[in-house]
Amino acid sequence: MAEHDSEHLGTGTRLVGAGRRAEWTGTAEHPGAVVNPPVYRASTHLYPDMAALRAHPANEDGKFYYGRRGAPTQWALSGALTALEPGAEGTVLYPSGVAAIMGALLTVLRPGDVLLMIDNAYEPSRAMGRGLLKDFGIETRWFDASDPAAFEAAICERTKAVLLEVPGSLTIEVCDVPGLSAIAKAHELTVVLDNTWASPLGFPALERGADIAIMSLTKHVGGHSDAMMGSASAGPQWYRKLRIRAQGLGNVVSPDDAALMLRGLRTMGLRLAQETASALAIAEWLEGRPEVAKVLCPMLPGSPGHDLWKRDFSGGCGLFSFVLKGGTSAARDALIDALTLFGIGYSWGGFESLATPVDPAPIRTASPWPLPGLADDDRFGVRLSIGLEDTADLIADLEQALGVWSAAA
Ligand SMILES: *Cc1c(COP(=O)(O)O)cnc(C)c1O
Repeated sequence: MAEHDSEHLGTGTRLVGAGRRAEWTGTAEHPGAVVNPPVYRASTHLYPDMAALRAHPANEDGKFYYGRRGAPTQWALSGALTALEPGAEGTVLYPSGVAAIMGALLTVLRPGDVLLMIDNAYEPSRAMGRGLLKDFGIETRWFDASDPAAFEAAICERTKAVLLEVPGSLTIEVCDVPGLSAIAKAHELTVVLDNTWASPLGFPALERGADIAIMSLTKHVGGHSDAMMGSASAGPQWYRKLRIRAQGLGNVVSPDDAALMLRGLRTMGLRLAQETASALAIAEWLEGRPEVAKVLCPMLPGSPGHDLWKRDFSGGCGLFSFVLKGGTSAARDALIDALTLFGIGYSWGGFESLATPVDPAPIRTASPWPLPGLADDDRFGVRLSIGLEDTADLIADLEQALGVWSAAA
């Protein structure tokens, strides 16, 4: 198979071909001999002789050196992710999504700097601001992304970076990434964006204004709830700095996990399309239910952030939330307990559906909960990660569980 220029190919075609460099999937005599890169389980890389060891380039991508710098299994994965992210020069892999976020922040920030963080960020990202970053002399301030003027006013002399997440965790609110990025650029801030929800298939983060695009590969790329990993993709300004910092932190991912991620990647487009369609049908059904005060699903017309989603995104995924009309925390627990096809557990983006409670009030510090327009007791939410089960089965399960909620509320 000859190598091709992938830029003009469709998403499915690019997902099939991404990262499959012939030199990594074969031998010198027969490049491209197998479909997938072998799992190189290797700490030591051997040199043919001393001259080769002495001549080794200092720190080059994609060259055998030592296990911590990876081998073709990991290089194929990072190459594939780079090929899927328009504007990226390279992609650094981390042992988890959290490690990727921290790896990026420790690349762009120094003691004394201020980080602005979106208020609906993933809670462990918020914990970095309160914990490790604070301990190292970096101050974090949270902002309400629905108010660009307040965002600009929050920028001070020491502000060096902004951490965005789109849509935000739990409430799935969409922020105006191009608008906020333009403000950030005008003040020479670096924009780090957590793009786990849409992935580059639905949101080309670097093209929309981010300098560094993060993903928890644990979610859509793995897709099977059996491995953890994170990535940071960037253009020439940041890629090499990210890689050097990740090396300094000793970050390395296992070749077995990289092979699982590559396997997941091949079907990611199909899974996302199916999960998006199913989630939208379920969101529409929930919107018509008397027990539901608000559906928080940006793909759904009328949902918060739908206009921005329509403008900036070309796809979605199966993760969304809804808020119950009144009720109690115990009734919400009864609803989740009554579900038979949804697992109760953290994470999302796997082939199986999950449900978790949504209680942002103690987490948010710069924006209100309940959301504007909702009554004060419309505060108990449920987050669903829609998997690959049949939509009608999931709706029937939700219907009987809402009956249990009504009886308990
Ligand atoms: C899960 C998640 C992460 C963290 O990923 P891990 O691989 O679990 O460390 C980061 N950001 C978002 C939005 C997530 O949902």
